[in-house]
Amino acid sequence: MLYPPLCPVCGRLLVRGEGLICLECRMELPRADLHLTDPSIGHQRVIANAPVERTAAYFYYKRDSSYARLIHKAKYNGRPSLARRLAAEFAGILSAEGFFDGIELIEPVPMHTFKKWRRGYNQADYIAAGISDATGIAVGDHLRASRTHSTQTHLGAAGRWINTKGIYTSAHDGEIAGKHLLVVDDVLTTGATLTRCINALAEASPTTRFSILTLAATI
Ligand SMILES: [Zn+2]
Repeated sequence: MLYPPLCPVCGRLLVRGEGLICLECRMELPRADLHLTDPSIGHQRVIANAPVERTAAYFYYKRDSSYARLIHKAKYNGRPSLARRLAAEFAGILSAEGFFDGIELIEPVPMHTFKKWRRGYNQADYIAAGISDATGIAVGDHLRASRTHSTQTHLGAAGRWINTKGIYTSAHDGEIAGKHLLVVDDVLTTGATLTRCINALAEASPTTRFSILTLAATI
């Protein structure tokens, strides 16, 4: 094994059968259940500026909380498989609730080629793959990141909105016309990135419908 079987949240050694995270951390996982709240935080952050039908996020994410490690390990510490397994787990829960009914294609938020080369992977690709593992829905490739943007970690809503302007474009080839797409990313913060992606796709293909899924949502 490449990694010892440690809980990525608390660091304790995992016992057989615990799976991805330890039982205690799983019990205390701050479930977001955005798809069950009405109107959801996801809708409030994205729907004002983009045509979104359903939103889902697995858990709430607070910077420096122990659960933030799940995202950080997947994103920066070379463990994208963690994102894939978490996404598959969440998709299994949502699937039973009918969340994916009618959704035909999963579209990961893209990462600029240079950044992807430097990091070695785009964590959103792994999240898309995990959802596909659990649901059998195909992963599409209809979004492009035309340039990198500076880090958004310390930016507020207005700053993120400006920072993401003009980054995402659609590689629409007619395949997405009339389809219901699920756009996926790791964290829903202000919604700027997902909104930009959906707007790019919607502009190229006005008959396409959209829902969103992220692993985490900031509080
Ligand atoms: Zn733990």
